[in-house]
Amino acid sequence: MLIDEYDLELFTPPCEPGAETWCAIARLKVDISQALPYLNASLRGAVYNHAAKALTWKKGGRNIAFHPYEIATANLEDRAAADRVGEGLIKTVNRTWERREEMEPEFEKHRRPTPMALFKLLPGTNCRQCGEQTCFIFATKLAASQRRIEDCLPLLKPGFADNLAGLKSIVIDAPSIG
Ligand code: SF4
Repeated sequence: MLIDEYDLELFTPPCEPGAETWCAIARLKVDISQALPYLNASLRGAVYNHAAKALTWKKGGRNIAFHPYEIATANLEDRAAADRVGEGLIKTVNRTWERREEMEPEFEKHRRPTPMALFKLLPGTNCRQCGEQTCFIFATKLAASQRRIEDCLPLLKPGFADNLAGLKSIVIDAPSIG
């Protein structure tokens, strides 16, 4: 296990006094920089800067930043959410670190796919089967890791096999962090 102890600090964002959402920082006792290239290889939509030892990720509408001795999360509803998400992120780091022998680390900087790049690969019929009003809204949420490719059922039809393959090549499935 890489991380077996951490302290969780909860605070309102200094740039948004009075905000209703909270930020949290998990202060770690160990340097997790060696795990970052493996997280970069496995987390959908992660943006990694190897020189800066920084990896950012967006999950469930929350911005998350991994640094050598801390993991910061924004847009948390309350202390319970901070505890749950913090614990999920620590498990994600530990699980990824334990699987490192089976993985290829990635040191390259990735860009998050834009909503427009994703939209171009969607069926474009605005059929609403995914529960969104338009394909572009779905693309925006897909780019923010708030929806999954499989939520667009028409994509699973044979006529869209190339589109599905194209989306899967730029959107990698992410583990759940609660
Ligand atoms: S289900 Fe797919 S095709 Fe239909 S609106 Fe949603 S994204 Fe567009």
